[in-house]
Amino acid sequence: MIKIAIDGPSGAGKSTVSKALAKKLGYIYVDTGAMYRAAALGCITAEIDIKNNPERAAEMVSYMNIDIKYGDDGSQLIFLDRENVTDFIRTPEVSIGASDISKIPDVRLKLVDIQRKLGEQSNVIMDGRDIGTYVFPDADVKIFLTATDEERARRRHKELLEKGQTVTFEEVLEDMRYRDKNDSTRAFAPLKPAEDSVLVETDGLSFEETVEKVQSIILERLGQNAL
Ligand code: C5P
Repeated sequence: MIKIAIDGPSGAGKSTVSKALAKKLGYIYVDTGAMYRAAALGCITAEIDIKNNPERAAEMVSYMNIDIKYGDDGSQLIFLDRENVTDFIRTPEVSIGASDISKIPDVRLKLVDIQRKLGEQSNVIMDGRDIGTYVFPDADVKIFLTATDEERARRRHKELLEKGQTVTFEEVLEDMRYRDKNDSTRAFAPLKPAEDSVLVETDGLSFEETVEKVQSIILERLGQNAL
């Protein structure tokens, strides 16, 4: 099975680019951030203080059933204990919770196990923070997608406003910096480019240009095998 790893900090455009390419190539798309978000949502709902009580959070996650399914339009749906929670995982509270929960090694081990199983079943484009470094160190293509934090916050802010959420640019930037720091300084599987990844800086590139660029890297590496 072909595995394409797309890593990078929050707001770099990983999910939109990965989704578009998965559709073009006929691969399944896995947004691993949604799994950490679902785990955080479960703990928040159970009123567990993830940051100050990681042991309880880890125990809670060990009982959770986190599953990925696909809608009729191919979009990824995330289920927590058989409930479709896709629409509830994009709030600022869940974003911070996901970043805090993702520091807990037992939580990562459980979710990585699910991610590796998905990769055994079909060709996959998987996006996250540690796909090329930890989940699939043998991935066929590894991309590290990034942009300056202001640019990423500007895009994320626009996206949230379009979804009807009321947040300021400063709040989004602050949340992004918090998560970037958390993600890149944690001890276990931190956010960093794999040594054999291709770095793609997306400042100043449109969505279409970014997709083109990433697609050409994939085709260059895999040739006709990609299709
Ligand atoms: O990608 P997204 O922003 O939805 O991810 C939410 C959080 O989940 C990230 O801030 C990060 O802390 C965590 N995460 C991770 N490893 C992944 C995917 C996400 O630690 N592979």
